[in-house]
Amino acid sequence: MRARQSEIERRGRRIFELVDKHPEPLFSKAGFYQRLMALSMRDERFKVQLFRFVDVLPSLRRSREIIEHLNEYFSDDGFGPLVGTGVHLARIVPWVSGPILRWNVSGMAHQFIAGKNPDDVIATLRKRRAQKIGFTVDLLGEAVVSEADADEYAARYLDLLEKLARETKSWTDPLGKNSELFPVVNLSVKISALYSQINPADPADAIAHLAPKLRPLLRRAREVGAFINFDMESYAHKNTTLELFKTIFTEEEFKDWPHAGIVIQAYLRDSEADLRDLIEWGRKRGTRFAVRLVKGAYWDYETTKSLQNGWDCPVYFQKPQSDANFETLTRLLLENESIITAAFGSHNVRSIAYAQALADELGIDRSRFEFQLLYGMAGPIKRALVEMGYRVREYCPVGELLPGMSYLVRRLLENTSNEGFLRAKFAENVSAKELLRDPRELIRSNGASPMKLQSPIPLQDQHRKNSASLDTDPGDVYRNSPLVNFVYKDSQDKMRSALREVRKRFGEKYPLYIGGEKVWTDQLTPSVNPSAPDEIVGYGSEAGIAEAERAVKAARDAFGKWSRTPVEERARLLERAADILERRRYELSAVEVFEVGKPWNEADADIREAVDFCRFYAQQMRRLGRPKLTQQVPGEGSYHHYWPRGVAFVIAPWNFPIAILCGMASAGVVTGNAVIMKPSEQSIICGAMLMQVFEEAGVPPGVLNFLSGHGSVIGAHLVDHKDVDMIAFTGSREVGLKIWESAGITRPGQRELKRVICEMGGKNAMIVDSDADVGEVVGYSIYSAFGYQGQKCSALSRLILLEENYDRVMERLIPAAASLRIGNPEEPGSMVGPVIDEAAYRRILDYIEVGKSEATLAYQAKEIPPHGYFIPPTIFTNVKPNMRIAREEIFGPVLSVLKVRDLDEALEVANGTDYALTGGFFSRSPANIERVKAQLEAGNIYINRSCTGAIVGRHPFGGFKMSGGGTKAGGEDYLLHFLIPRVVTENTTRHGLAPEQTPEYRDEFLWPKPE
Ligand SMILES: Cc1cc2nc3c(=O)[nH]c(=O)nc-3n(C[C@H](O)[C@H](O)[C@H](O)COP(=O)(O)OP(=O)(O)OC[C@H]3O[C@@H](n4cnc5c(N)ncnc54)[C@H](O)[C@@H]3O)c2cc1C
Repeated sequence: MRARQSEIERRGRRIFELVDKHPEPLFSKAGFYQRLMALSMRDERFKVQLFRFVDVLPSLRRSREIIEHLNEYFSDDGFGPLVGTGVHLARIVPWVSGPILRWNVSGMAHQFIAGKNPDDVIATLRKRRAQKIGFTVDLLGEAVVSEADADEYAARYLDLLEKLARETKSWTDPLGKNSELFPVVNLSVKISALYSQINPADPADAIAHLAPKLRPLLRRAREVGAFINFDMESYAHKNTTLELFKTIFTEEEFKDWPHAGIVIQAYLRDSEADLRDLIEWGRKRGTRFAVRLVKGAYWDYETTKSLQNGWDCPVYFQKPQSDANFETLTRLLLENESIITAAFGSHNVRSIAYAQALADELGIDRSRFEFQLLYGMAGPIKRALVEMGYRVREYCPVGELLPGMSYLVRRLLENTSNEGFLRAKFAENVSAKELLRDPRELIRSNGASPMKLQSPIPLQDQHRKNSASLDTDPGDVYRNSPLVNFVYKDSQDKMRSALREVRKRFGEKYPLYIGGEKVWTDQLTPSVNPSAPDEIVGYGSEAGIAEAERAVKAARDAFGKWSRTPVEERARLLERAADILERRRYELSAVEVFEVGKPWNEADADIREAVDFCRFYAQQMRRLGRPKLTQQVPGEGSYHHYWPRGVAFVIAPWNFPIAILCGMASAGVVTGNAVIMKPSEQSIICGAMLMQVFEEAGVPPGVLNFLSGHGSVIGAHLVDHKDVDMIAFTGSREVGLKIWESAGITRPGQRELKRVICEMGGKNAMIVDSDADVGEVVGYSIYSAFGYQGQKCSALSRLILLEENYDRVMERLIPAAASLRIGNPEEPGSMVGPVIDEAAYRRILDYIEVGKSEATLAYQAKEIPPHGYFIPPTIFTNVKPNMRIAREEIFGPVLSVLKVRDLDEALEVANGTDYALTGGFFSRSPANIERVKAQLEAGNIYINRSCTGAIVGRHPFGGFKMSGGGTKAGGEDYLLHFLIPRVVTENTTRHGLAPEQTPEYRDEFLWPKPE
């Protein structure tokens, strides 16, 4: 070990010597760029603003806009003198400063981008050839959101290949040895550029679409003697990329072709298993292939994404762990040199020196592997490696400035990263000894993770801890249940198996549940699969007035005891229910797929939300449940606390069939009310499943009752019932307003004024600013408008485009809609499934006819499944604010696009509706973002993201105006609607003697006291 370390140090020092022979700062471009980077490394806040500015700049067309943005990003005090002067200058002479800035940023981009187009890049490659540096070329492009984009990409790859092959015909191998392993022409391909609908849950679908696009490229590469490498992108695409690689290179045509390569990312915890699997595959295949070993370019993205979804993070938390793993994998690659040609993609001299030392130890000639480095980075290291007689290949991105921005920002981040090698060596002059240390020695044994990954409470204790504390800020502490990550094959298998199992139970009958008993009635309501209406998922017993009366009585009887059951016991009931929901997660998701046509991930999100409602409300009730002292005054204890209202009637919709029902019912139960829950007529089976969950969790008889039946019969009866004290309703405006009205009438014998929670629909708008990132706008708008067929109350219905951006957005929006996969959601690749039932189907088609008569039909999908309630995604343009399709809620996959002059008009249009549920804004102008945050009328405002997908605790959900009464499901004040506040005041003085302190909290007022 020690001998190897000294060999690594010897080689590392040699590289440094050679590097120091041609001293070059970290950033070869001097002046503007150099200074900005130096500032970025000093000030994290500046860095964020700078990179954001760089990101938006190419999309700004006029000098004035550039200056405005510069002002908004950097007008804060404390940003370095360079920027201060820049902003100042810009204010005075905007027509000069705008172009200069753009020119400077283009200069920055061109440091990392080898050419605008294939012709441009050849000149760069020639220069490198003279320096004995080879190339691999990568095509930069905008995010692929449609199949039109993907086809264009495929054509560009082919064109690039042809040009490179033609121009380099006479080029020979720089080392003149083992050249058969290293074709001169080397192309790096990203699979996300070739198929717009990759769904990690369905690798087979992705492969089926990607392989036909790749084959012509591979065939041609083989003909011209080129090499094709599959780059590796985010973790979501990793398994698909590996699977695709193995599938296509096992095909007869490519089985014996050695010039294919793939990337392994050492920052991934499962990279060693993946590499071993590839080696085994390669040995069976019997032909060489190549692996480029890198650490990985998406560390920040992966950590953020996993944190947001509550997933296990796929990357290592400590940089030395990635470095150490890089070395482990280097060994694995070199030990399998007989089947793999290795490329080491790193700028880190320690990582490079390790590979060199080990190769020597294993007797592998230096011409049989290569070092790969990025264009525009670590020039002196490349030169040193060439001088030492190693193979060096440069990774050369080609493309325009705009699509190149995300690549540029990644490189800037890498160069300025606190943890990066380049910064340590070239900007901070860390000593060679330090830089060459064995990474294993640097791994901290306590496994400390970076700040943003540190959870205030260890995961396993989070829910318990929450319950113990009274004062914690719930938004900060509550951790949501993780979503199922369908990237994993195991999750895919579990879901498929659940679908098979649930299908076996089709046609079963489900009872009502009243007073702790299952109740069967003669009348059965079938619940059908909207993808295949001849399939009956199950039958629900139908309740009539008699059962409704029975349920009210059972609830009333149970209320007395339940209302005085300690909060802790009630909270635990919800937590047991949450555990059961999690245990039955796949099964319940599968029921949703069949009964309401939800795609896998949407169904899973619904169950996750139900779990969250239970745990979050349990936590909230513990917070509210203990009487709290109102003021500290001597001689008096005055405690504010809550009582439940009585019997709560819960009426839920079918579109979140378990989550919303569970949310309202669990809130009712945990607050001490007795609840009668009525699922929608279209989602009886989901409702019955939820009842099973609570039954298993041990809900006492009568505390939760389940009645399925017609809203117009039992619903209306119970709303008017004198013994029902509150109604929690989520559904249509028409029904909601009726409930609101009838609940206002006080009937003979009624004890309470009825409280109504009324959550209704929306006509949600998304405004798109002139500087918005078009790729993001399109991706998120499509998802917000057509995800779950547009049947979420939060769904996007009106896309409001500033005229300046109109054409650019529409050019990409329509092809993106045309690329959506429509089909039975049993298949995970389907993004758009059926609408809920025939009535909805007809109503939406009628609206489409209205749209055709009022506006312009800009797009309608042509191919939809022949059976089932499938509606083609439809987009209307030339929509005016007063048209019916712009005013009325459609609740289907229909999007209206409105063109406006400016942000003033956009806000006027967005707010000019009866509803105020969700609203969105896409912009990169900090000032405009602040304005929209303040002025857009909606209960939930989303900036630069989709306007659907609220998460319990994180995005308390609910609207106002005709969208609802202003309540927030999943928010910390939600439970208050189920409670009546009370204050108990006691004079604690006796002849002037008063206790010194009155406790801030006291036990609940319970009598008799529980044992
Ligand atoms: C030719 C070439 C091609 C490449 N192709 C790809 C590709 O297809 N896909 C891809 O993802 N990457 C690819 N990369 C890698 C990526 O772009 C970075 O350049 C590379 O990860 C930087 O590593 P380094 O060894 O040069 O620098 P170092 O400074 O030694 O390492 C930086 C890397 O360490 C990792 N890291 C940083 N912080 C932490 C932390 N706290 N915990 C754990 N790990 C951390 C990250 O991966 C980061 O990029 C490629 C790199 C090269 C040179």
